[in-house]
Amino acid sequence: MQNSYATLSCTHCGRVMPIAPRRWQCVCGGPLDLLFDARFPLDEIARRRPTLWRYREAIPLPADARIVSVDEGFTPLLALDFAGHRVWVKQDQLFSTGSYKDRGASVLISHIATMGIDRVIEDSSGNAGCAIAAYCARAGIACEIYVPADTSTPKIAQIQAYGARLRKISGNRQDTARAARQAAQTTCYASHVWNPFFFHGTKTWAYEVCEQLGWHAPDTVILPVGNGTLLLGAAIGFKDLQRAGVIDRLPRLIGVQAQACAPLYRAFTAGPTGTEVPNAYTEKKPTVAEGIAIADPARGPQIVRAVRESGGYFIAVDEAEILASWQWVGKQGLYIEPTSAATMAGVFRYVREKNAQVARNVVARNQELIVSTITGHGLKNIGH
Ligand SMILES: *Cc1c(COP(=O)(O)O)cnc(C)c1O
Ligand SMILES: [Zn+2]
Repeated sequence: MQNSYATLSCTHCGRVMPIAPRRWQCVCGGPLDLLFDARFPLDEIARRRPTLWRYREAIPLPADARIVSVDEGFTPLLALDFAGHRVWVKQDQLFSTGSYKDRGASVLISHIATMGIDRVIEDSSGNAGCAIAAYCARAGIACEIYVPADTSTPKIAQIQAYGARLRKISGNRQDTARAARQAAQTTCYASHVWNPFFFHGTKTWAYEVCEQLGWHAPDTVILPVGNGTLLLGAAIGFKDLQRAGVIDRLPRLIGVQAQACAPLYRAFTAGPTGTEVPNAYTEKKPTVAEGIAIADPARGPQIVRAVRESGGYFIAVDEAEILASWQWVGKQGLYIEPTSAATMAGVFRYVREKNAQVARNVVARNQELIVSTITGHGLKNIGH
């Protein structure tokens, strides 16, 4: 029963294999995706409650799955004016744990609960750790979160409030990831970066956007990217909708990174076909956009490929732009994480560049439908 509704496939070598409780990586080392046919019974969906589970037939879980949910999702899509251009901004800071990571956690932990697994590990001192800890608490699954020993943030307090056990690992972020992977030999690895079920939760962002636009695809989507859990999820979601005939074209994907740590931006701009993110990339300067400061994204090549295939590109924003955007968003009445302000800075950069092109008659003024998102709540970073 458990293996028939979806299959794992390797994003690196293309190998196909069945779902198994402790399988989170291909034998070749590559990250996995899921082969699955998403269905969208639109009339029924319209009658269902406004949560991400209204797209039940598009979520790769068996019919008798154990759904772990707090009625999350269907967040508001708000129009904001960026330099004279209307941009639709999805309010994903309004999730129960304060970030969009709940999309991924609800689906991943439902999968894990359905498999009958009763303990998991994850490594994240940030929003992913909070979301995995919260949904494990909800499901009665024992949860251990590996964090670097020197982390001390409000997010750690939040993770502990959900009853998760903290494993403090001395060394840096990479040492923590290594310790978690070691433990994953014998325990289920509920990794938001490696486990493909997480991405089949974050993909609901794209479903909601299209439904809220009257089942239309945006022209352009501007998203933050570090490990790519939202950007790759959105890419899957739009492709699901296109394959099912619900939308007829795919939006361009624009990925926003902080200049202080921009390996994907570098890989993209290095050449017209390159997707290899340099392994040796270690440059990481301080940035307030800590949530996307990922020097060695495990799915780097997959992210660059997705952006390139969509006809999009990457934007790298500096600290002054991030701060200015954070202040501007506050004046719109929205309190957001500094990481999310980097995305807003990317939107400003995109719109201003377009305005300049219109002024020079390079492109015509048009009704380009642009969608972006706020990923995390400002209350996450009190005193930051
Ligand atoms: C996780 C996160 C991101 C970006 O996610 P990636 O998976 O690293 O691309 C952006 N903003 C916030 C607030 C996050 O928690
Ligand atoms: Zn492989």
